[in-house]
Amino acid sequence: MLEVVKGVKEKLGWETLDYTPNEKIIFPCINTFSDMVKELKKEDIDENAIEEWEKACEDSEPLFNGYPVCKEHNVLLTIFGCHVCND
Ligand SMILES: [Zn+2]
Repeated sequence: MLEVVKGVKEKLGWETLDYTPNEKIIFPCINTFSDMVKELKKEDIDENAIEEWEKACEDSEPLFNGYPVCKEHNVLLTIFGCHVCND
């Protein structure tokens, strides 16, 4: 996760987006997220928490369909599609 944060700070892949992320909004949030990840301990993880999330998901969602990726960008699809090509 910290490598992902590092990629955001280095604007890794930003050229593939069809918009320019607002650094004044994103960077403080990503710094807070980074601090949270650094402080996370194994005992903080509730392994049963995923059950509640799974129950809230529809059968058609990517979670239950092998984690498909966008063929153009090779990023995981969400219920909203690809976050890079906004499709
Ligand atoms: Zn895409």
